Amino acid sequence: MMEMKRVIVVGAGIIGLVLARELARGGIPVTVYDSKAHVADKTAKASGIFSKEGLAKIAIKYDRAIVNELNGAVIFAGGESMRVGAKTTKAYVLDRGIFAECCADEARAAGTDIVMGRRLTRDDIVQLAKDNDNVVVGADGVVSTVASAIGFPPIKEYVLTYKAEYRDAAVPDLHKVGLFFSKKIARRFFGWTVPYSKSKLEVGIGISSLSRGNSSAAFNAFAKTPYMQEALGGASKVAGYASMIPLEWRRRTVMGNVLLVGDAAGQVKATTGGGVVFGASCARIAADAIVAAFRKGRPLAAYEKAWRREHELDLRLHRIAHSYYSMLGDRGFSAMIKLSKVMGIDSFLGTYGDMDRPTLIIRRFFLRGISE
Ligand SMILES: Cc1cc2nc3c(=O)[nH]c(=O)nc-3n(C[C@H](O)[C@H](O)[C@H](O)COP(=O)(O)OP(=O)(O)OC[C@H]3O[C@@H](n4cnc5c(N)ncnc54)[C@H](O)[C@@H]3O)c2cc1C
Repeated sequence: MMEMKRVIVVGAGIIGLVLARELARGGIPVTVYDSKAHVADKTAKASGIFSKEGLAKIAIKYDRAIVNELNGAVIFAGGESMRVGAKTTKAYVLDRGIFAECCADEARAAGTDIVMGRRLTRDDIVQLAKDNDNVVVGADGVVSTVASAIGFPPIKEYVLTYKAEYRDAAVPDLHKVGLFFSKKIARRFFGWTVPYSKSKLEVGIGISSLSRGNSSAAFNAFAKTPYMQEALGGASKVAGYASMIPLEWRRRTVMGNVLLVGDAAGQVKATTGGGVVFGASCARIAADAIVAAFRKGRPLAAYEKAWRREHELDLRLHRIAHSYYSMLGDRGFSAMIKLSKVMGIDSFLGTYGDMDRPTLIIRRFFLRGISE
């Protein structure tokens, strides 16, 4: 039995911090390292849309991070549009920097040691992993040094993103995100708008790494479309950021005493690129496995089995839905939207939709069929 003494988490993103909080609460000594000076740095490269249900599961106090409330989406594709909405708030737009600080506060309060401004190199990681007293967790995001240093299987498809924030924009709907599908502009992904206030709007786009395109060129083409011109005509760009999202999960996430969680593991919804709810849930599962390894000598591989049992089917359904919409051209999108309206899918999703778990939507769909 290995005599484990300390957990080293590489990455103080939301997922690394949630994991560290759980470990510290379980009485496990844990140190988190991050190359950034402050946890809020560079967090604006991602959007901050989180379902209420998902946030309740993460169980971090997030009230001070709320920027706006969302109750649905307007989907634009193939010259058609469809509104999906509920009467009540379904999701929040959070300030990602403040949310990261909320996570760090809770991790510190539980007893986590967070060391900022310290980048771990490949050599550092290999050395730390050689010592069997350590458990090393790669929570170091989409370009994971831990994954490449230890030799985890690769992720083959990513979304290349570019997002910008505008002030003085003509925000089309204060409580709905806009989703724009177009094979020409947003190859194998989509463009989006996220309202922050009546005049502040986030605009973003993603394209697949397989398309060999450039996300900022795609963004410029998107910003020139008539719909975006209407919203951005008199607006000024405040800031712009490029980033990446993994579109698939790794075939292995545990090797010896090294684990991967969050974007480093590819635990992200391929349909939307949302990774925080799944990643945080997997972080809790990882914490349970590590506590069991410290206390009872159980194998760390229990984490691999447990997170796949809990989430792999949902991740697979997101990947299938992503592959499906990636194939559609304008005519296909237009037909899909018309069919969705005829079948009442727009109002069904508004009432029963779950942003994170397609398995729940399917279950609710069949239950409704049985009960009505
Ligand atoms: C444009 C865009 C929009 C998105 N919108 C949403 C959304 O609305 N909702 C949602 O749920 N998800 C969204 N996501 C995905 C979400 O941002 C990620 O899934 C989530 O941030 C992953 O968290 P993480 O902690 O795994 O990784 P990260 O947030 O990337 O954190 C990794 C940390 O590791 C640190 N690090 C990396 N390498 C090292 C090293 N060698 N040594 C020390 N530190 C290191 C980094 O500095 C960083 O702080 C979006 C992503 C993008 C790009």
